[in-house]
Amino acid sequence: MDPLIIEARVNEYATRNRNRNVPWLPGEIASDATACFEAGASIVHFHGRDAGGLPDNRFETCRDTILAVREQSPILVHPSLGYLTVASSFEERFANTQRLASVPATRPDFVPMDMGSVNADLFDARTPAFRSPGTVYVNGTDMLIALSQRLRQAEIKPSLVAWNVSFIRQIEAFSTMSLLDAPLFVSLVLTDKILIAGHPGTAAGLDAYLAFLPKNVPTAWAVTYIGGRLDALLDKIILAGGHIQVGLGDYPYSEDGCPTNAAVVASIARRASELGRPVAAPADTREILQLPNRR
Ligand code: ZN
Repeated sequence: MDPLIIEARVNEYATRNRNRNVPWLPGEIASDATACFEAGASIVHFHGRDAGGLPDNRFETCRDTILAVREQSPILVHPSLGYLTVASSFEERFANTQRLASVPATRPDFVPMDMGSVNADLFDARTPAFRSPGTVYVNGTDMLIALSQRLRQAEIKPSLVAWNVSFIRQIEAFSTMSLLDAPLFVSLVLTDKILIAGHPGTAAGLDAYLAFLPKNVPTAWAVTYIGGRLDALLDKIILAGGHIQVGLGDYPYSEDGCPTNAAVVASIARRASELGRPVAAPADTREILQLPNRR
């Protein structure tokens, strides 16, 4: 079994209301990424945020964050494209990545490809009502085909994100069309609390994905749980050979005394060690996912 890849999902669009350790600015993200690397993470996923926590999808912000992260540690970088907050054409969406990829120092190791579209409205179960219904996370197949081709040209590994089984089927179709290179790196999204767009964060929710993973192409799978904590599924994922994507971006862990991202990563690494599964260093993750060795 491959070593466990831990990806630190350090901020997403999380506020600091429930945990003030969420990093926002480039320097904060870089310090956090270094601490996560030291705790066992081999990939850092981040969103550009401004000093007030609002989404900041500017090229300069992403560039400065990647440079600051790489100055401090060899952790692999996986910036968001900000798609959920950017309603624009493919070329506009891809412009930042294109610029980042033109210089080796800022070329991302991964870029997310959410392999389908989904209603992403927030649901308040107490009311009960949807908050501002009408939010659709649109990722058309034509756009995804273009993205897969451009990422291959740029030598950036797509992090293939699935919000339900139909996304997995789309991944398999893309693989059949030779649009994706093996091994595939697939994120299985579980969601709870106010987001109900993914599978529920239960063993049944995870098993429903695993039953449909592509069988004809080597596939590394990882679990992301937005709005929940992975504790109940952790041993199952580690022992089944899956990988973990976790952090304050997805859950504040306020009941644990508001830990840092690094403390959350450390607890996953500790459990893997107890179960006898080594944690992947960045070089291991490069090998497992066959990333180009460019640094
Ligand atoms: Zn993200």
